[in-house]
Amino acid sequence: MTENKVALVTGASKGIGAAIARELAENGFDIWLNYRSDTPGAEAVARDIEKADRTCTLLQFDVTNAQAAEEALSPLLEETVPFALVNNAGFARDSLMMMMGEEDWEGVLRVHLNGFFNVTKPVVTKMLRKRRGRIVNIASTSGETGVPGQTNYSAAKAGLIGATRSLAMEVAKRNILVNAVAPGFIETEMLDELPMDRILPRIPMGRLGDPKEVAGVVAFLCSPQAGYITGQTISVNGGIHT
Ligand code: NAP
Repeated sequence: MTENKVALVTGASKGIGAAIARELAENGFDIWLNYRSDTPGAEAVARDIEKADRTCTLLQFDVTNAQAAEEALSPLLEETVPFALVNNAGFARDSLMMMMGEEDWEGVLRVHLNGFFNVTKPVVTKMLRKRRGRIVNIASTSGETGVPGQTNYSAAKAGLIGATRSLAMEVAKRNILVNAVAPGFIETEMLDELPMDRILPRIPMGRLGDPKEVAGVVAFLCSPQAGYITGQTISVNGGIHT
């Protein structure tokens, strides 16, 4: 390899994004680590990345803010084009549709769909000139099967899967591969409020997933071995039928 590869991971101060950033660093990537508010979390992940002898550039911005994304990314993109982009930033705001406020509907669509657009557009524009790159979008089982109480989140994640397929077709001839990974129930803060007694029986493997088990699949999709995979959604969910 003549140059160190860079991976931009959004929402990487904790949870699945932090595991992805650590795993990609172990696989030889320097990391551009985006997060929104948890600076101590982001700094702890950065220290782990540096222990793996890779560099970590912290990028604090809200992915829903197009101007903030542009201001954070454009100076870096003048110098370096990341080989990999992982769109992971996100959250859920669950409630039954009849109780759901407009802010919870829009907030969830905004973070997963506008966030994807705001970060991917400037990066893929540069990747197209380099004629190489990998984009991995973190979707969800919820976007594949539907889940009661998650009309907003299922719509956002199904939308992200659709965007993955379309973008993959747009950029395939330029050797840019675009895929989604759809985790099931993974042990992070996002699950803190959920009733485990009702969730565990729905998972054939009978346990939650570990963020590292998602990160390993993302790292594979960013590796040379995945060079002929694009437009796909890979489920990592302990056997839930999608
Ligand atoms: P988490 O532990 O709550 O972490 C979420 C991360 O996203 C944090 O780093 C957070 O940053 C960041 N973030 C949230 N909103 C952001 C914004 N507007 N701009 C920039 N960063 C933002 O959640 P997680 O469970 O790891 O989830 C990560 C991704 O996996 C999400 O897309 C989620 O939908 C998806 N997913 C999770 C599960 C699961 O079971 N956990 C299942 C399927 C899919 P700060 O904390 O710094 O604000």
